[in-house]
Amino acid sequence: MTDNHNNANVLLIPKIENGIVIDHIPSGYGVKILEIAHRHEELSTIIISLGMNYLSKRLGRKDLLKFQIKELPPSFLQHLSLICPGVTIKRIENFAVEKKIVLDVPELVDKVLKCPNPSCITNFEKSINTCFHLLEREPLTYGCNYCERHFSRAELEAALP
Ligand SMILES: [Zn+2]
Repeated sequence: MTDNHNNANVLLIPKIENGIVIDHIPSGYGVKILEIAHRHEELSTIIISLGMNYLSKRLGRKDLLKFQIKELPPSFLQHLSLICPGVTIKRIENFAVEKKIVLDVPELVDKVLKCPNPSCITNFEKSINTCFHLLEREPLTYGCNYCERHFSRAELEAALP
């Protein structure tokens, strides 16, 4: 990163040599994301640190998480993008931000959620993994690939395992 604006932002983040930082987490969501991380086996031995209530121009207060890992598992990113879209994911190499993306809502969510429709086949046949596709962004709506019902984000969140 060469431009000054970005360098100024990096100074707010506790330094790590290599890893992934999830930044711009709305205040209070850091703990929630940590909980999600605990459900993903691939992260069970990874060193994670949580910072809370940092000052942010954009959000007022923000949380951030540091992971001592090269790449976050795709299933975790999918899960995260559903719960907390808009966060910034930064890859740190040699103390510098090497890559930065803003997490968008997922187009597809597979295996992570339970279908809220009790008569959906995915709730009977354990061998069938759930899959939902994005239908609309405002308000955020997903469709089940099996029973074809539509669900809001709140309904899907309530059905998180
Ligand atoms: Zn369904």
